[in-house]
Amino acid sequence: VFVCFEGGEGSGKSTQSGLLRDWLQEQGYAVLLTFEPGDTIVGRELRRIVLSPETGQLSDRTETLLYAADKSEHVDTVVLPALGRGEVVITDRYVDSTLAYQGAGRSLVVEEVEHVARWATHDLRPHLTVVLDLDPRHGLSRFAGRDRIEGESVEFHERVREAFVAMAKAEPEHYLVLDARSDVDEIAAQIQAAVTPLLTQ
Ligand code: C5P
Repeated sequence: VFVCFEGGEGSGKSTQSGLLRDWLQEQGYAVLLTFEPGDTIVGRELRRIVLSPETGQLSDRTETLLYAADKSEHVDTVVLPALGRGEVVITDRYVDSTLAYQGAGRSLVVEEVEHVARWATHDLRPHLTVVLDLDPRHGLSRFAGRDRIEGESVEFHERVREAFVAMAKAEPEHYLVLDARSDVDEIAAQIQAAVTPLLTQ
């Protein structure tokens, strides 16, 4: 079973992915919790390059390719091996982040970005993507320009948010969109309810 968490800055993805991991482990499931960008040796370097303010402005295509390289390494060396061992894999960000940030956020053709991201990931698709939806004005206030992306305009983050919601609308059977401002335990319970039927498939 492959579950993804998506959403903007400060939407609570790490909190909720951690709670889901704990809940699954309590029930005896082997779980791998991972994230993008950066959860491989190469990925750590790529994350530093794409996010460090010191890198300066990358070209949109360079940024997209670096994220794609991170994904390819992540899927080949972390995600697919864990799924092969029968583990539940939870990832904090995946292909939809690239479609939202590089596709909708930057001025690139979404279909082209999607092609690169699908190629990089062998077109491996999650069973469920949880979108923690949040007005960027709330989310961004939690950070003080910690990385390059947080320094982007509110309009950029609005486009990202709209992209996540639009992807979920297009394929509702594979998405769960939740209001990130709801109570933490309430959100966790809704995620558990959506994941439960996947475990018995
Ligand atoms: O989720 P996390 O905070 O680790 O993401 C790091 C940063 O990378 C965030 O600011 C996010 O907006 C950015 N990002 C991006 N494009 C992606 C994935 C993440 O700009 N495809």
